[in-house]
Amino acid sequence: MYTYEVFAIRYATMKRKASENFMGGDPHEEASDLDYFVWLVRNEKRAFVVDTGFSEEVGKRRNRFLLRQPVDGLRALGVDAAQVRDVIITHMHYDHLGNFDHFPKARYHLQDDEMNYATGRYMTHSVFSHAYEPDEVCNLVREVYRGRVLFHDGDEELAPGISVHRIGGHTMGIQSVRVHTKIGWIVLASDAAHFYANMNEVRPFPIVFNIGEMVQGFRRLRELADAPELVVPGHDPLVMQRYPVAGAGLEGLAVRLDVAPK
Ligand SMILES: [Zn+2]
Repeated sequence: MYTYEVFAIRYATMKRKASENFMGGDPHEEASDLDYFVWLVRNEKRAFVVDTGFSEEVGKRRNRFLLRQPVDGLRALGVDAAQVRDVIITHMHYDHLGNFDHFPKARYHLQDDEMNYATGRYMTHSVFSHAYEPDEVCNLVREVYRGRVLFHDGDEELAPGISVHRIGGHTMGIQSVRVHTKIGWIVLASDAAHFYANMNEVRPFPIVFNIGEMVQGFRRLRELADAPELVVPGHDPLVMQRYPVAGAGLEGLAVRLDVAPK
């Protein structure tokens, strides 16, 4: 069985109230800040980048605080974005899709349902469309016409030890990534679970397309991982505390996920 090293690269952050992150959350509860990540999965043979993050311009317009360009985070871990061949797009929300000009050789792995959702009738409603950037969506459509998008439908193995799984819920076609590591199977949930508490306490995140699939998805994520604590949520600042720093000079910027969490 192939094993991979896995990293979370924190590239931006934002202050939020708990009521913005949990359905029915009390507005007087303490802050529940959001971190923004891209992820790297690699071994001697190959590297997969999971999501590409927003551009500086989009981050500025949406008032998110960019800590470091996602591609600079990859470079700090020894990966040149220009050489990356496989990028997994978990879903097409603005904070997961951008910076394509830095990935000239990439193929993009995406669920059929996500492209259908991002280009179909639901985007005529701002409640669903506000988290998408039309220009970035169009960039991915262009990649379809260049033959660079690999569509998946449900569960698919990309290579031995790494597979994608359509979860749905948060968006119609969000997918999570299951990876075999030296500590067993871990799952990069991305926004199928923004926070540990969304999943562990079954308190859904309020940006949602299908709440039934979101809640069912929390269970599915746990089934895919070898242990519940090996599901890595998409935006939780606790990820930076539970896992060890990825190397010298990377404090607050990258942690290693193929090591047992605290
Ligand atoms: Zn997100």
